[in-house]
Amino acid sequence: MPYTSHGHWYGPGEPAQPEPTLKARCGGPALCPVCMREAASPDSSTEEGSR
Ligand SMILES: [Zn+2]
Repeated sequence: MPYTSHGHWYGPGEPAQPEPTLKARCGGPALCPVCMREAASPDSSTEEGSR
């Protein structure tokens, strides 16, 4: 799923799938560190606070 947990597209090309209903106004992978991190490593899309 080429979307961040904030609902921003980070995959290559253009979003083909329907966008998630939950979309934060964080600025996307370009500005938001959360989206940026998930875009950088989409395989590990878990938050860092998991001990
Ligand atoms: Zn974000």
